[in-house]
Amino acid sequence: MSAAETLTVAPVGGPTLPQERKLATAIPGPKSAELLARKSAAVAAGVGHTAPVHTIAAGGGVIVDADGNSLIDLGSGIAVTSVGNSHPKVVAAVQEQVAQFTHTCFMVSPYESYVAVAEALNRVTPGDHEKKSALFNSGAEAVENAIKIARKFTKKQAVVAFDHGYHGRTNLTMALTAKAMPYKSGFGPFASEIYRAPLSYPFRDGLSGADAAKKAISVIEKQVGADNLAAIIIEPIQGEGGFIVPADGFLPALVEWARANDVVFIADEIQTGFARTGEMFASDVFGIVPDLITTAKGIAGGLPLAAVTGRSEIMDASHAGGLGGTYGGNPVACAAALASIDVFENDGLIERAREIGAILTSRLTDIQARDARIGEVRGHGAMIAAEFVDPETNEPDAALTAAVAKACIAQGVVVLTCGTYGNVIRFLPPLSIPDALLHEGLDVVAAALDAA
Ligand SMILES: *Cc1c(COP(=O)(O)O)cnc(C)c1O
Repeated sequence: MSAAETLTVAPVGGPTLPQERKLATAIPGPKSAELLARKSAAVAAGVGHTAPVHTIAAGGGVIVDADGNSLIDLGSGIAVTSVGNSHPKVVAAVQEQVAQFTHTCFMVSPYESYVAVAEALNRVTPGDHEKKSALFNSGAEAVENAIKIARKFTKKQAVVAFDHGYHGRTNLTMALTAKAMPYKSGFGPFASEIYRAPLSYPFRDGLSGADAAKKAISVIEKQVGADNLAAIIIEPIQGEGGFIVPADGFLPALVEWARANDVVFIADEIQTGFARTGEMFASDVFGIVPDLITTAKGIAGGLPLAAVTGRSEIMDASHAGGLGGTYGGNPVACAAALASIDVFENDGLIERAREIGAILTSRLTDIQARDARIGEVRGHGAMIAAEFVDPETNEPDAALTAAVAKACIAQGVVVLTCGTYGNVIRFLPPLSIPDALLHEGLDVVAAALDAA
């Protein structure tokens, strides 16, 4: 009897799943292949997938598939399950809430958990000024609302986003997003009054933070004009764009310029938020205090929730009924968020993100020392990436990156790629991953690179 056949009852997810990499079949195994065939017949082709598996359970640092394979999770479903999949506190909070009531619409009859999430966000986000929050369903929806709020407050229209930026897939957020393929190609026309400024990308532009900021501000002043500009929106560390860490001084200079010019500074912390970078928020890494901050992904342990949090005077600029949505701040998602925020604050996850970051950085820089195809290892906390290049020219090597990622998945390690040039592997393990699994995952990455 094969391992797959012994798996008659689906294992329960969460941290009690065996924390091991186990290959019972090739990936995809027969049951996964069957699901993928149904997927291609039933699901729109535009909805892609990274790992060809039929997931049945996940927790700690593993994802288990229907064929009995146990894969090491170095992606957290894109920085979402930072507290770990099916964290016991999240499961308990969700179970309690789902039996109580599932929905009323907060705009119809309000409930406490939404208010408590807003209070928690106002408390944990950067800055000790008076803040308010509004809750939504997805990151893109939070970004859309941050822009609405900034326009209403400033009575101005233009918005500046940055090279390599990623802010979502809705119409306005596609316009804010930099990369055409796959996010924008053929999906225009895009929202108007969106402009793009150059980013600080030390590995490729060689500029100091101050010089990169001067360049960006000059573009903004000459091509947009502060009098027309409602907001600038930036990821403090870029996610999809390639885990680009701006040079020191870049973000503070932008914040200072925005403040002096009545421009709302929006930090999109949808990927960087909630302990991921070894601080509660990446803004804390750089010592900046944004006017508005967008959050989602890690906020609720896997349940869909997003938020805009910011200065009360800005958040309150909108008339009643101007913000909201049927599902925004769903009570089950809010219960999950309260449990997750409790775990982030009280179970040492910021410290854990730093430990994971130290392991990732030291292992990857060791590999880089003997393999010049890794051009740079960068990031903060448990948000670390390796950029792959042609060692002769420093040109991005997307083919190598894709080959390494594919080989890792075939060997039972889920890694994600990113970057404008598709030449970055990003490491975003759940903060619940045991050290041994993280090391084993990195052994697989090293072997895949050697073999490529
Ligand atoms: C993922 C992401 C978004 C979009 O969030 P969705 O929930 O996918 O709509 C926006 N901004 C950043 C920085 C992200 O990483």
